[in-house]
Amino acid sequence: MTEIKKNGLVIQEKDLGENDKLLTVLVERYGKLYVVAKGAKSVRNRHMACTQLFSYATFGLRKRGNYYYIVDSDLIESYYDIRTDILKLSLASFICDVVNDVVQEGNNEDDILKLALNTFFAIAKNLKPLEHIRAAFELRIAVISGFAPNLDACSQCDKSDSHSYYFDIVDGVIYCNNCKNKLFYANAENEFLERGLAKPIAILSESVIAAMRYVVNARAERFLSFSLQADELTSFYNVCEKFLLNQLERGFYSLDFYKTML
Ligand SMILES: [Zn+2]
Repeated sequence: MTEIKKNGLVIQEKDLGENDKLLTVLVERYGKLYVVAKGAKSVRNRHMACTQLFSYATFGLRKRGNYYYIVDSDLIESYYDIRTDILKLSLASFICDVVNDVVQEGNNEDDILKLALNTFFAIAKNLKPLEHIRAAFELRIAVISGFAPNLDACSQCDKSDSHSYYFDIVDGVIYCNNCKNKLFYANAENEFLERGLAKPIAILSESVIAAMRYVVNARAERFLSFSLQADELTSFYNVCEKFLLNQLERGFYSLDFYKTML
């Protein structure tokens, strides 16, 4: 019987019968674990505070069969300020869905756990506008998950001071103004062209690329500390979202729902 005591973040909760919950918890060092929380639907249950979506707690867990069971729990942070605002709540739900999609069982996912905690803290405390937080999170989690774009210089001529760039959202590389025509020839073999579709491209200003470079390279706790002119925000928000969804090759209902409220 394996027993562990580790901090973990609840990223999904499902009802299990009348009284119990099946939780997906992102646990330090262990990655994603499936945890049965007996009696957690009752307000009198002693683990109730720790077994809510978004709760970050120290869990004592015992493995039986394919699941872990809670032996004890100690709340570290409930992110109460997220739960009281429907827009924040929906954004945090989307963040949980993305995290759940990219993390694996039995794999150390501490960088993603740290990113999720920093992102929740920023949402709860209004450190930045929600769309700023979302976009930076989307790009950053893509990077941590192994989809880092190469934004250092034009992928064809190495120029790094172009006024605007063509960003290939599928391959994650940039082309300067002089080389942009090569973008279409260089990828003649790609599946988009084979299927007669236009490959997703974003035309980005130098400052949007600079903001993206910042998010890609920043220290974990500083990934939100950049600013952009108001007229460049939409371009930044759009490209971060498109890039992540393209890399993961899927959409999210929670994102669609969040966006209906903007
Ligand atoms: Zn070039």
